[in-house]
Parts: sequence; structure tokens; C-alpha cells
Amino acid sequence: MNNEQYQQIVNVLSYPAQRHPVRIRRQAQEYELENDMLMRIWKNEWKTVIKRDQMNDLLYYVHNHPMAGHFGKERTLMKLQESFWWPRMEDDVNRYIDKCENCQREKKAKRSEPLRPIPITGLFEHWGIDLVGPVNTSKNGHTYMIVAIDYFSKWAEVAALSTKDASSVVAFVTRRIICRHGIPSEITTDNGAEFVNSQFESLCKKNRIKQIKTTPYHPQGNGLVERYNQTLVRTLRKILDGGLTEWDNFIAPATFAYNTSVQSSTKSTPYYLAYGKEARTPDKALYTDKGSPDDIEYRIGQIISLNSDRQRVSKRLVQQQIRQKRHYDAKIQEGPYRPGDIVWLDQPAEGQWQEKLELRAYGPYEIVRRNRNGKYKIRHKNTGNTVDKWIHGDKLFKAVEDSWWKNEPVVAIEYDPERHKPYDFPPLQG
Ligand SMILES: [Zn+2]
Repeated sequence: MNNEQYQQIVNVLSYPAQRHPVRIRRQAQEYELENDMLMRIWKNEWKTVIKRDQMNDLLYYVHNHPMAGHFGKERTLMKLQESFWWPRMEDDVNRYIDKCENCQREKKAKRSEPLRPIPITGLFEHWGIDLVGPVNTSKNGHTYMIVAIDYFSKWAEVAALSTKDASSVVAFVTRRIICRHGIPSEITTDNGAEFVNSQFESLCKKNRIKQIKTTPYHPQGNGLVERYNQTLVRTLRKILDGGLTEWDNFIAPATFAYNTSVQSSTKSTPYYLAYGKEARTPDKALYTDKGSPDDIEYRIGQIISLNSDRQRVSKRLVQQQIRQKRHYDAKIQEGPYRPGDIVWLDQPAEGQWQEKLELRAYGPYEIVRRNRNGKYKIRHKNTGNTVDKWIHGDKLFKAVEDSWWKNEPVVAIEYDPERHKPYDFPPLQG
């Protein structure tokens, strides 16, 4: 309640015989005075009326105090309503919690940047590579799987590794991608140390391969491989049927099974898109007499239809991307940010961040400028230091500024042990 109104009502109740405006006199009927403090009935109970200049201090104790624990809007409001009343309490509680630094810094970044789909390229031109593991160490000493998927045909290459170091990755790319399918123009990886190192970079440079790195915050680029990894691991589990140390022996048949089965995104098998015919699988070898005819006209027919099938797949993939982009972009919550906007940088510690006790977001930062790829230069609001790296918009979210959030307020309400439970109130200081 604003201070002037509060004082006017106190005056009416203290000096009822004096002259007072009728409006105030009428309002005062709802209140009583107790030890110079206004009280009123709300939901059948007497509540202490709070003045505007007491409000923030009280909110501090009912929300920020360690014994209050930064509970959400509804619980904070209910806690307050046990003992206090002022007009439009709920609005003030909401505004206050929106501004709370620690509550803000435990939020996650909001999606702010549109999806930038990976351009559809031809067969074996763009591979995504990822590692699975550590898994149960096999009898042969393998602990990891390295998986590569061709973005066009969805063809998979998989190998077992004993360590996930740079040289194992380079050997895999050389033998299983370059020497089998030719030099790709692009390889997408995550930011893992096994992909971001001088050996891998020099392999790419030597072969004019562009390495595209995705980040854990923005993994949309490598989703293809990650989805396949889940399928592969599930398939292996079923094939292995408990023989866990044998898994590396089953990678080849499991990958063959995948490469010869129809993929939902292309409606074709990876094998067909690569070779222009279907593979002779165990079922065909055992239950039909022969393979496909080998005369030249038949082959020409196959090649012609392969060409149109590949074009159809290209179109299909483009249409899927358009749909995905529409769906993704519809969920953009804020942004793009403008210079001068104040934001938090969502940077949860990597790995087991749930177990760490630092707040997940840092800042506040001020937006300095935005580049064409949706990345930002940001400057720390308090220190003025500019962050060297360009930061992707999806790692940022808007901060609600507050001028006094750093200072613990002076207690402005007297503590009345009769009426206030100790939980609501700080002990008197000094
Ligand atoms: Zn809070």
C-alpha cells in the first residue's frame, strides 16, 4: 500500500474525532490499528498491512533468505498471505521474482535463432561422424564405436575402437570413408577432443574437406548420426542377447542389416541409393533361385531409374528440411537480440553439471553486435570485458535488470513473535 494512503488510514484510526476526507474514513472501516501498525481481515484472518517501502525487504526475506529458498511465484505468494496483505500482492511478487538474479541464472537459454539446415549434397559428399561409448570392453579390447553416416543415402560405416584418440579417428576416416567412398567435401563432428585436434584438422586440410563442428548447445547439425547411434546400439543389444563381450563381432552384420533396410527419410535402402540395386540378403539367397538378371538392357533400365530415384530422394530431403525448419522456427521464444540488450550466458558446466553447485548462467552481459550467423559479441555488464568468442544466440536469454539485487536490505519491519512465525521473519539484528 502506498505510504501516503497508509498514513491517512492510520490518522483516521488514531484520531477518529478529527476531520478526515469521507473517502479515507470509509476505507478505514476495513482496518484496525495495533501497535501503530495497520491490520485488516483477509480470508477471515487478521493480516499485517504492508507499506510500499517495506515491500522489497519483506519479499527478500520471504524469497531470497536461505530459510526461504527461492521458491516460485505461487509458493512465495502463499507464504506471504499467511501473515500479510497489501493491494495487488500477486503482481508485486511476480515482478520481484522475475528480477531475482539467482532465479534468473538457473533458467535455461531460450531458442532465439532460426534453424540453418545443412544443404543437401550428393552421394558420399557429406558425412556425420560420432563416437559411442565407453561400452562394455569386448574380448578383443574394444571400448568405443565410431560411426559415420552419409547425409544423402544414410549409408553407415561403423568400426570398433580400443581408444578414442585422434589417430584412431584419422585411420577410420582414411580407410573406411576416403578409401571406400572417395573424399567427401564435408564432415560434421561435435567438439570432442578426438575430432578437434591437429591430426584431424591436417587430414581435412590435405584432402580439402570442410569440417563442420556442432556444439552441445546447438547439436541440430549432427542429429542424424546421434539418432542412428541409438538405433545401432538397440540393434546390437538385441543381436547380442546378453553376450556383451562379443559386440565388436556383430558390428558388421548389424551395419549390413541397417544399410539394406528402407530408411524412413529416403524411403529407400542406403544400399540401393549407393549401388542402384538391392543387396542379396540371406532371405533372398536362401529362398529365391538367382540374383537379378545381368543383361545390359536390364542394367541400363536400373541406372535410369536410379538416377530419377536419387533426384526424388533429394527433393524429399529438401522438403523434410523445410518442414523441420518451420516446426523449429515456430518455437523461437525470444531474439534476435539488439545491441544494448542485457542477457545471461547459459553455460552449464559440461558433463555432470547437475552435480555442480554453480549457477548455470553467467553475466549479466550486454549485447554488442550480432553477425550474419546468429552469433553475438557480448560484454560483461559489470567488468566491461568483452568475450573473445562469438556466442550463439541460443546460449543467451534476456535478463531482467534490477538495481538493488546485490544488497541485503535493512530490516524495516518490526518482528512481532506473537503474530509472525519465525520462518517468515529474520531475527532482529544487533
Ligand atoms: Zn530467487
